[in-house]
Amino acid sequence: MISGKTRVLGIIGHPVEHTSSPAMHNAAIAALGLEYVYTAFPVRPEELGPAIAGMRALNFRGLNVTVPHKVGVMALLDEISPEARAIGAVNTIDHREGRLIGHNTDAYGVMQSLRLDGGLETLPSRVALLGAGGAARAILYALLQRPEVEHIALLNRTAEKAAALAASLDPEGKRVQPGVLDASSGEQVAAAGLLINSTSIGMHPHPDASPLPNPACLHTGMVVLDIVYNPLETLLLRQARQAGARPVDGLGMLARQGARAFAIWTGVEPPVEVMRAAALERLGKPSPLKPAAN
Ligand code: NAP
Repeated sequence: MISGKTRVLGIIGHPVEHTSSPAMHNAAIAALGLEYVYTAFPVRPEELGPAIAGMRALNFRGLNVTVPHKVGVMALLDEISPEARAIGAVNTIDHREGRLIGHNTDAYGVMQSLRLDGGLETLPSRVALLGAGGAARAILYALLQRPEVEHIALLNRTAEKAAALAASLDPEGKRVQPGVLDASSGEQVAAAGLLINSTSIGMHPHPDASPLPNPACLHTGMVVLDIVYNPLETLLLRQARQAGARPVDGLGMLARQGARAFAIWTGVEPPVEVMRAAALERLGKPSPLKPAAN
């Protein structure tokens, strides 16, 4: 029930119509009986400044930030968390006592997913990370926080972008080895105990594409996380299962980065399974939390 005391949460992006975030957050709000509402605001790049001023003036409690505003919004905030500063992008704004504080919850989301969905309390010493875009930045940052990760092969179609990302987060070049993602990448992937795809290859409307030219490099004992979540089971994850590796889909990371933002805003830990089920339903899959209709 929306009342005069209802606090506003939301997401800004462009485009933002296909986001799963309203479904996830409103499901958690309903499950907890809290007085919040979460909606999506399409904001064109030239309107970002007025949108953030509007957030202050209208006393919104918080916003998620998605493409293309994650970097541009930083200059408009009063404070940036050390983690978001190091990653170089904000995906969550906390409006607290008149100040706007930027956070990045993607690094938390991916680590929680690897632990709880991938069964990895400790990460393997060798990791292969595919991609060098916005998501790769947060994931590389998170991997570098873990001392047990000794070597990260960072492979991307545009090798220069992998090199630039590696240089910015591992300036001494001790742990990250950047390179090109092509038919020659198999050896580096095969040497890894954990493979993470953070490219958009395999995403709708191209579900028949895999980021790996040759899946023979996948093996038993390997965990394969594909952060693409539409479709839920990508070709890469099917290839991983066939090779005896442990496949982990991107919904766990999505739900957990959302759950962290929710906790920042409300002070309450939300039910992650409710958020995940809502995102699943949004993707047209039956919710595991509701009985099937006859
Ligand atoms: P981005 O910044 O646009 O980066 C895209 C990456 O994919 C780049 O490395 C790009 O390589 C690569 N790529 C795109 N098309 C390619 C192709 N045809 N062949 C080879 N490489 C290609 O995007 P992003 O924000 O990092 O997001 C990447 C994916 O992760 C999206 O599918 C997004 O939905 C998903 N994601 C999921 C979560 C989650 O919580 N599960 C969170 C964030 C993002 P180049 O540098 O060579 O262009």
